[in-house]
Amino acid sequence: MEFLVLQLHVGYRCSNSACRQLTSGPQDDPTKAVNLGVAAHITAASPDGPRYDPALPADDRRSTENGIWLCQTCSKLIDNDPQRYVVDVLRRWKSISEAAALRSLETRLSSSDGDDELLFLRLEQLMPDLLDEMRRDATRAPGTENAADGVLARHRGVGGGQCGGRLRLRSLATSVPRSPS
Ligand SMILES: [Zn+2]
Repeated sequence: MEFLVLQLHVGYRCSNSACRQLTSGPQDDPTKAVNLGVAAHITAASPDGPRYDPALPADDRRSTENGIWLCQTCSKLIDNDPQRYVVDVLRRWKSISEAAALRSLETRLSSSDGDDELLFLRLEQLMPDLLDEMRRDATRAPGTENAADGVLARHRGVGGGQCGGRLRLRSLATSVPRSPS
C-alpha cells in the first residue's frame, strides 16, 4: 500500500466526509513533521480483521485501492464498528474525498464557496440517494435548467431554501462524480 499516494489523493485530510481533519503539519523541529493520519484497510489484511473478504486475492488486499486515508480517531472508529462502517461506506468516503481534493486543485474557492463545499460533502453523506437522483436527471437532460429542481420538487422541503444555494447545490451535484457501486 502506497501510504504517500493515499495521503496525496485526499490532500492530507481524513477521508471521512464528516471529519476532514488535516492530518499533517510542522513540528518544532524544522526537519520533521507531525502526522496524525493512518492508512487503513478497507477490507482487512488478515482473516480475523474487520471487513475481511476471503474472495479478495492477497495482492489486492495489500493494494493502494484497498486503502483509505483517515485520522487516528476515524481509523479506530471504522475498525471498532465494522457492521456500521461497511466497505460501501468507506469506498464512498474515499471517492467523495478524492473528488473534493480534485475540485480544490482545479478551482480557486472563495471562503463562502468553501462553506458550500463542506455543506455539499455533508449532504452527500446524508442524502446520497437524492444526489444520485439529481445526477441521473442531469445526465438524462443535460443543460436543462430544471433537472435538480425536479428532483427537489419531488422531495418537498429539501429545496425550500434560497435560490442561490439551490443553484450551487445543482452545480456541485452534477460536477462531482458518482461513487463506485
Ligand atoms: Zn477523521
